[in-house]
Amino acid sequence: MIVIETVAGMLAERRRMSGAVGLVPTMGYLHEGHISLVRRARAENEHVAVSIFVNPTQFGPNEDFETYPRDTERDLRLLDEAGADVVFMPTPEEIYPPGFDEWVEVLGPLTERLEAAARPGHFRGVTTVVARLFRIVQPDRAYFGQKDAQQLRVIRRMVTEQGLPVEIVPMPIVREPDGLAMSSRNVYLSAQERTAALVLSRAVREARRMVIEDGVTDGDRVRDAVRSIVAEQPLVQLEYASVANEESLAELEHITGPALVLVAAKVGSTRLIDNVVVVPKGMPVPEGLRELVQASPG
Ligand code: AMP
Repeated sequence: MIVIETVAGMLAERRRMSGAVGLVPTMGYLHEGHISLVRRARAENEHVAVSIFVNPTQFGPNEDFETYPRDTERDLRLLDEAGADVVFMPTPEEIYPPGFDEWVEVLGPLTERLEAAARPGHFRGVTTVVARLFRIVQPDRAYFGQKDAQQLRVIRRMVTEQGLPVEIVPMPIVREPDGLAMSSRNVYLSAQERTAALVLSRAVREARRMVIEDGVTDGDRVRDAVRSIVAEQPLVQLEYASVANEESLAELEHITGPALVLVAAKVGSTRLIDNVVVVPKGMPVPEGLRELVQASPG
């Protein structure tokens, strides 16, 4: 496995590759969720590149850019074990050289609600850096986690709008044995907050059960169920509970096809998100969503 820190070095390495290239973009502090993406990339491509870049432009002024957890030595060991060939670890100056002005933005409802409303400018930072990584690494496939459900859809949309020659591969959420969605930010949680945070996976699990097993299609009933489960836990402050169209993320009155149940909450000072993909009982599950729908939150 080789580690590359410059754009010029990555471009040169890319020219030496023949056959399919899979890219896994990350911000490091890796866990089993990231590694599942690397393993899938390994299985589907001749070459596997992983980027580690804590992208300043996707953090708001009051967010955790400065304190975002970092452990490069451990990350490199895990990536080596998972079979990555190249780790691209640029500095912010490499990605954003002086005078940089190549912003890439997806406009419209997808970048106006939910995470976009809570984190102004976040998706502009995400699409800009991912577009730049795609130009540098030129992957045939890029792997993204369903954990960041809205990000995944925004990136799909960007690829379509920009006509980029890359296949976006969605991967199910990897969870801790007790159901908590793995996240680099879980390290911020105290023991008490860690226990309290379980209410999020419990809430989306119940939503999933209502829709998939009981056949509930009333959006308000599902949203109310999620809200009341989260409200049981005083350490957790719900930001939103959403039942949305799986593709457009438009809020749903009635669930008439593939949908997402999404939650965002503050646990102490840590902001966490979780979601499930559901298709109402009796409705066909589209082939491309099977893996995501099957992934049960505990
Ligand atoms: P991050 O390092 O948080 O930017 O995440 C890098 C990639 O890993 C993104 O595509 C995330 O959606 C994905 N990811 C993060 N956590 C998980 C998880 N628990 N399960 C699956 N994918 C994840």
